[in-house]
Amino acid sequence: MSLAAVLAESVTRPVFQDIGWLGKTTFYVVSTLAILVFAWGWWRRAAKYRRGRPAGRAGVLRAGLFGRPFAGVRRREDRSSVAAVAANSSIIRRDRGTGIAHLLIFWGFLTAFMATVILTVDYDIVRHLSRLITGHEASFFHGPFFLVYTFVVDTMGVALLAGLVYMGVRRGLRRPGQLDYTRAEQPEGGYSRGRLVAGDWVFLGLLLGILVTAYLLTGLRVLSQDLPWFTVFSPFGRLVADGLAGLGMTPAAAASVHTVVWWVHAALALGFVAYIPFSKAMHILIDGVNLLAHDRSATRRLPAPAPQKAGYSEIGDFTWKELLDLDACTKCGRCHDVCPARTAGAPLSPRDLILDLRQWVDTSAGGITLLDRETRTDATGPLSPNGHSGIAGRVVSARTLWSCTTCMHCVEVCPVGIEHVPTIVQLRRRLVDEGTMDPTLQTALQNLATQGNSFGKSARMRARWTRELETPIKDARKEPVKYLWFVGDYASFDDRLKVNSQTLARILAQAGVDFGILYEDEWNAGNDVRRVGEEGLYEMLAEHNIEVMRNAQFEEIFTTDPHSLNTLRNEYPERGAAYKVWHYTELLAHLIESGAIPVRPLGYKVTYHDPCYLARYNGVVEAPRRILAALGCELVEMGRNRADTFCCGAGGGRIWMDDSFLTERPSENRIREAVQLDVDNFIVSCPKDVTMYGDAVKTTGHEDRLRVRDITLLVSEAMVGPVDPPGALVRATA
Ligand code: SF4
Ligand code: SF4
Repeated sequence: MSLAAVLAESVTRPVFQDIGWLGKTTFYVVSTLAILVFAWGWWRRAAKYRRGRPAGRAGVLRAGLFGRPFAGVRRREDRSSVAAVAANSSIIRRDRGTGIAHLLIFWGFLTAFMATVILTVDYDIVRHLSRLITGHEASFFHGPFFLVYTFVVDTMGVALLAGLVYMGVRRGLRRPGQLDYTRAEQPEGGYSRGRLVAGDWVFLGLLLGILVTAYLLTGLRVLSQDLPWFTVFSPFGRLVADGLAGLGMTPAAAASVHTVVWWVHAALALGFVAYIPFSKAMHILIDGVNLLAHDRSATRRLPAPAPQKAGYSEIGDFTWKELLDLDACTKCGRCHDVCPARTAGAPLSPRDLILDLRQWVDTSAGGITLLDRETRTDATGPLSPNGHSGIAGRVVSARTLWSCTTCMHCVEVCPVGIEHVPTIVQLRRRLVDEGTMDPTLQTALQNLATQGNSFGKSARMRARWTRELETPIKDARKEPVKYLWFVGDYASFDDRLKVNSQTLARILAQAGVDFGILYEDEWNAGNDVRRVGEEGLYEMLAEHNIEVMRNAQFEEIFTTDPHSLNTLRNEYPERGAAYKVWHYTELLAHLIESGAIPVRPLGYKVTYHDPCYLARYNGVVEAPRRILAALGCELVEMGRNRADTFCCGAGGGRIWMDDSFLTERPSENRIREAVQLDVDNFIVSCPKDVTMYGDAVKTTGHEDRLRVRDITLLVSEAMVGPVDPPGALVRATA
């Protein structure tokens, strides 16, 4: 093959092969209509997002677009970046097979789109303009450019095909549970989700149809041109041509069939363009933006209520990001799969919550969604056009909203950056304002308001556990200390946990740590109160603690409670109280590793439970494991660990609510997971976990097989001289 042959203008392909002027005119008219429908659809969606409040995401978007361009591609990062979106890393991270299939579809589709744009630029702009200006028709769509173009388009089409086939097989044959759209809560009056399923298949079918007809077109064109040499640069199109020739098709027959297939392909492609903004296909454009606007700290640090509002009651209360979240959902079911509430038999699925809100918002805002919506036989149900008398408690039932443990697993696994928890809390704020809550929760909130703790005990009793210590703990209000120990309600008041707090105090004293507490002036930190939706009470608790801390003398804080840690670390700074806040496992790991706490190997075989608010919310996963390693314990991991830990069921105020309606408590589910491992000790690092799992080993009948122990007790057991033996600082109770 000579260079001249490669450079020849004949090395190209016809654009409107055998399509006459009438056909061309029809094509341009229909194309214009399709683009107008596309633009109108997006204009309607944009109008809906404009009804939302500002979301304060300018900084996040800026960072995603321009800062740290490769953040999040390989490692888990706080922000998504353009590169992370392009690499589909949020999809691949937890499901490699599906993620890679999506990556092939993503780049295959993008290549096909760009190929169409390039062809349009050449055929409709360059050729016309050059003829107008110079009198000669110029084109860049030939020679080496064409050869590279055709090769890339041809091979990337196969990548797209492979991805689509994988998705089709997964959905149609493998049918993973997360793609089952059966509702966690079956609403009265019945429902049908057949259209949701149809929406998935139409989306997949349209893409497959466009792709298959594209290859058929290439094959027919190549055959009709009598297989010119350069068509080897379309290896798969050429394969189709060879196949058709092998079946006995002549070039003349190929040319006439080509026209028919050309129109079918054009109709499918243009129909798809018009279909995008009204269907599941809208995620093609929405999800990248949603990921770039995703702020992982939005769940750690909850947003304030809408101005002048106690929770959400209408579309205008949502931020534009929250409205975008609703449209971004692809129904992948990852959140549905991991949700501890759903697993426990509660009527909550984060996926369904998002879909219900989406349908309600679309119905109320006059949005148009084809297929991808649920139908209800109840004509006045919350998702019907007549049923818009309130979101919290109606579109999403009160029990659904109260079932959430705010474990954040849904947010963590969602590949498209949806932030379920802040929305749930905004809806809970409405329920709290209306007084729609469990009586037990109401009592806990009253206790918190009057006594500063959920136990309803006098504030003077908060530090009672310290009375049994021979060495008194310093009062950080009265004398300077290096560390302020924020003990938390459970570690202070619960009699079952008293020994853990005392043991930690003893260990720290023996290690020479300079620490103190706030005694009766410590109030509940307010993390769970805020997640319940009682913003006013949260503010009261936080302001009190901040005022007391301002008058105390300390350098850093450590806390026993991961829930307190979260609000102290992430939410108090907004109120002007920015301190270094540690979890006690971080402090213990440091003390052991620095030699301040000498330990001997224990040789236990243990498993460790990561608390959601420690591991998922705040990324503290290595410190407890480093302690266990230093203590010579063999750690056998449960399948769900670190950021993918399984919730105990206590968070988000659930510990104050009735759970008798659950088919299996999350803590029981967790214990059943642990007993599959051949371990004796179930190690925890959260006071609430001691009570939750202490109860769960009893109710599941595994009390004899598994000991639930706070990690502090293991450290105490492993401590060796020259320090005093364990218990020396603990005076026998009278
Ligand atoms: S935060 Fe946890 S409990 Fe709540 S919806 Fe998400 S996964 Fe379910
Ligand atoms: S909310 Fe996210 S994780 Fe859940 S189904 Fe939708 S896209 Fe998937």
